[in-house]
Amino acid sequence: MTTSLADSPLAPAYDRSAITTGIVHFGVGGFHRAHHAMYIDRLMREGKALDWGICGVGLLPADTAMRDALTGQDTLYSLTLKHPDGHLEPTIIGSIHRYLYAPEARAEVLDALTAPTTRIVSLTVTEGGYNIDDATGVFRTDAEGAVHDAANPGEPTTAFGYIVEALRRRREEGTAPFTVMSCDNLPGNGRVARAAVVSQARMSDPELANWIDTSVSFPNCMVDRITPRTTDEDIALVRSELGVDDAWPVVAEPFTQWVLEDEFPAGRPAYEEVGVQMVSDVVPYELMKLRLLNASHQALAHWGRPLGMTYGHEAAADPQIAAWTRAYLEREALPTLRPVPGIDLPAYVDSLFERFTNAAIADTLARLAFFGPSGMPKFVLPTIRENLEAGRSIRLGAALCAAWAWCAEGVDETGRPIPDAQDHLEDYGRRQRDGEEGAFLTNEEVFSDLGSDERFRSAFLAELAAIKEQGARARMEATLSED
Ligand code: NAD
Repeated sequence: MTTSLADSPLAPAYDRSAITTGIVHFGVGGFHRAHHAMYIDRLMREGKALDWGICGVGLLPADTAMRDALTGQDTLYSLTLKHPDGHLEPTIIGSIHRYLYAPEARAEVLDALTAPTTRIVSLTVTEGGYNIDDATGVFRTDAEGAVHDAANPGEPTTAFGYIVEALRRRREEGTAPFTVMSCDNLPGNGRVARAAVVSQARMSDPELANWIDTSVSFPNCMVDRITPRTTDEDIALVRSELGVDDAWPVVAEPFTQWVLEDEFPAGRPAYEEVGVQMVSDVVPYELMKLRLLNASHQALAHWGRPLGMTYGHEAAADPQIAAWTRAYLEREALPTLRPVPGIDLPAYVDSLFERFTNAAIADTLARLAFFGPSGMPKFVLPTIRENLEAGRSIRLGAALCAAWAWCAEGVDETGRPIPDAQDHLEDYGRRQRDGEEGAFLTNEEVFSDLGSDERFRSAFLAELAAIKEQGARARMEATLSED
């Protein structure tokens, strides 16, 4: 016997009919529902923040699935935390009180964005969603969506087109601008969001662009909670364990972290009362996460996949991969970090390995590796660059790049295809497989200047040749002991 989410004993006890929109969120995926929406729900459970309800917005055709799932269940959904010992911690989240699929509801989305009660616009549109050239950090003004939205500002199609048009209307109507808060996993996510919004505005109205640049706040933040893609097994688990029908539940690890710059001139929910760390400078926390946690994911994926592994916890439980990953963190990543206020870095590293081995999360290496062009270039290559500049060792970083390049050839050590291994790297992986030396490094979007750095190039090529000849295990052992 199952019930609806609304009838479940886990359903929120607060009065959802009293919720008003304070936040419009673009990109309602797993992560937003496990993170920002969960923090707002926590506040609502304490009888607070009912004026900070979330209006979710989907922009892409694939978002019709989220529209159907959420609108079919009063925008409620379950969030189930999976503890390492196997026990489940479920809640039903009620903070998203409205969902709009923008291609069918442009006027409603613009109305929600323009309403004076909307004071925050948050985003999780993935790293690729910012339309920023990785190599140059510049907004791509020739991208189809950007060109369309600049030519037709009143009929936006992208998140940035919507934000620009809404800010224009607010300014015209004398309404204070909202704060734009990126929650994507990008270094300087606020800075990147600012670049995207201001650049989009500059394409149609340079004067508006200047006003946005000086009048709108774009706080940076560091976010963390592993939220794997929902599987059919998760849907069945929620049905049997919670006794509810949920078309699109979210499962996540128990750990959650949000370090947020406190720059909200239009006001904000009392995030600090529900575990968010409000700071003046997020950079040290962000570097810690990108260079330790996210870089570790890359190591687990690029060593685990050639060995035929599927899951993050499988790779983390492999003593050799775990030892290699820890050595990379300790020898090459930690030396690039500044002290992080309030954080014991060696203890943070220990906690990472506890999280990685949580088998209940079953995060796939394909997903971890799929951060694709934004993965290694953001999580590992900056560490290599800094170590080169400081004259420190890059041995393990170069070996990890070689393992990654090897995966891009698309076949594991047993001869089986590596799923999604090639994606955007397909051409470089193929040319490399066909024997073109250094082909992988010619991907300028990924490597830019690093591809021609002689020290890096020779270390990478030597390591790639050695991996191909000796295999992953032998090279992990060799690179650990040779340093
Ligand atoms: P998801 O695939 O579940 O959802 C992504 C959402 O972004 C979807 O609504 C999709 O339509 C939208 N989107 C993608 N490209 C877009 C574009 N070009 N324009 C507009 N919308 C676009 O993914 P998720 O797990 O929710 O992750 C989203 C982001 O959250 C990640 O890219 C990452 O930056 C951040 N994050 C995720 C995790 C995690 O463990 N899942 C952890 C920390 C941070």
